[in-house]
Amino acid sequence: MKEAELSTVGKLCYVLRRINIHPMYLLGPIALSILTAAFDGIGLGLLIPILTGFREKNFQFIIDAPYIGPVMQFLPDSILADDRALFGILLSGFVAIIIMKNCLRYCTVVSVAFFNQRCLHHLRKTLFSRFMSFGKLFFDTTNIGHHATLLTEFAGQALRPVQAVDRLMNAMFSLVVYLSIMVAISWRLTLFSLPLFVLLYFMIRSMILSIKKVSRAITEQGSALGKKSVEILSTMTLVKSYRTEKMEQQLYTEISDKKSKLDLKTRMLQGMILPMQEIMTLLAAMVIFAGTLYFFGREQIASGPAIVVYFYVIINASHKFGALSGFRSTLAVSSGPLDEVIKMFDDQDKFAVEDGPEEFQGLCTAIECRDLSFSYDEDRTVLSDISFSIEKGKMTAIVGPTGAGKSTIINLLMRFYDCPPNSIFIDGNDIRSFTLDSYLAHVAIVSQETLLLSDSLRNNIAYGLEDISDKKIEDVVDRARLSEFVSKLPKGLDTLIGDRGVMLSGGEKQRVSIARALLKGAEILILDEATSSLDSKTEKQIQEAINEAVNGRTAIVIAHRLSTIKHADKIIALKDGKLAEEGTLDELLEEKGVFYALWQEQKF
Ligand code: ATP
Repeated sequence: MKEAELSTVGKLCYVLRRINIHPMYLLGPIALSILTAAFDGIGLGLLIPILTGFREKNFQFIIDAPYIGPVMQFLPDSILADDRALFGILLSGFVAIIIMKNCLRYCTVVSVAFFNQRCLHHLRKTLFSRFMSFGKLFFDTTNIGHHATLLTEFAGQALRPVQAVDRLMNAMFSLVVYLSIMVAISWRLTLFSLPLFVLLYFMIRSMILSIKKVSRAITEQGSALGKKSVEILSTMTLVKSYRTEKMEQQLYTEISDKKSKLDLKTRMLQGMILPMQEIMTLLAAMVIFAGTLYFFGREQIASGPAIVVYFYVIINASHKFGALSGFRSTLAVSSGPLDEVIKMFDDQDKFAVEDGPEEFQGLCTAIECRDLSFSYDEDRTVLSDISFSIEKGKMTAIVGPTGAGKSTIINLLMRFYDCPPNSIFIDGNDIRSFTLDSYLAHVAIVSQETLLLSDSLRNNIAYGLEDISDKKIEDVVDRARLSEFVSKLPKGLDTLIGDRGVMLSGGEKQRVSIARALLKGAEILILDEATSSLDSKTEKQIQEAINEAVNGRTAIVIAHRLSTIKHADKIIALKDGKLAEEGTLDELLEEKGVFYALWQEQKF
């Protein structure tokens, strides 16, 4: 059966299985709940002899009473003969049992809370590792705000029924105990009372279905709210420059308002269940009492105190039944978030790039693209039938007008997206046959987009690398022409650079990226517009550093400024996703084709 077709409980069990939580862990809380319910029942049962003794002004009857009589036989005769002592024992027994019941209830709550927190921790951890395994295309086609909401909010909401499981178990076992007490007091009355619970069940059912529907809508609005917040907070510069604060505020307010109205609707439906149930129970209990008293007569049913206790038990039982319904409404509320969580366990449309079976040991001869075609989506081919090779130890430049597909080739070489089988080869082996770890350990990239974390300069440069000495970091900082900048910072390399590196200029960010790639010391170096944000003086310096770094390595360079690839051993010119030309600078200039046109455009 598909997960989408499961009931909410089925979905919850599926999620627990996926996060490796064994249902056996619930045995402890279940045992504690049974004990709590048993003590609750015994406490209530003791009320009958206490009340009867008060009414009769004599407690001697308990020596022969059912259930309690055999226990009393263990007491010495002197106590059994003393009425006050018997009353004292009954009362202290009652108090001890109530104290015990509450201690057990506390233990149940703590053990369920422990179980719930473990589940939540495992769920968040598993969801995060699922996100880590999804391909870049998944993130291109979905929304980060939604994912953040899923991890922080939906995970907790999906597991809310687990949090309420102690109340469910306590209610279930208490109902069994209450039913036994009710049957023991009067089976006739009990027979008449049972239809009441059936009636209650069907009344509550319709409300639960409405709550389930609202839960889906709330989840959608929750996701929309997450998307809007992340989107706007991360594009503040755009908002500020176009003065759209008011418009964004209004959009946010509308979504938040819709969500809070739906939240209120759920609360109202949930809140209605308990009072409605209590009133119904009271009215029905009255009718049942009156009816049974009329038909059977009081004496036929039970003694006076027993009827009082029976009445008390039935009201308590309806509370417990309410807790059962409460659990069903919690399940209904969690159904929307649970669906979102389950979607993440599904492998469809996650575009994961799989590991191959072999370890990559290093490049020996060349990287080759053979009839490489690629599209991000079904509608548009971005690369078609491209074949070229990148020789080891040489610098290969990829040029072409904007949108020609240069970065796409880099994305495929970086394994961000999966290329078709047998389209990219390394030393004659399909790139897909290597494990991602072993292959990417040999590749370093400086991309168009400078990716920086809200951390110190040092940690940004050494990101993903372990045991890096200060000397090594200082060396790459120097080679990336960053030393002068770092020396001016109050805390040097330990300066925090702000969210996504906002405290750095474009050129500084790019140099940090270059330093990071240099530090990795990988044999294949990919430079995607590495010097685009630098002024001509720094660009010249950086170009020297790059030439130094590239020396002896296999370098793949994309540059719009063609002057930066003058020294390339080979230039690949792309146009409209196709290979247009290939050769050295002189050869391509002579050919007077695509490259020549680009070159001429940049001459002034
Ligand atoms: P530029 O020089 O402007 O960076 P480029 O030559 O590097 O351009 P690519 O970024 O490879 O070009 O883009 C090639 C085509 O693929 C473009 O038409 C672009 O719209 C499309 N494209 C790029 N990334 C994606 C994506 N994640 N999903 C869908 N289409 C994409």
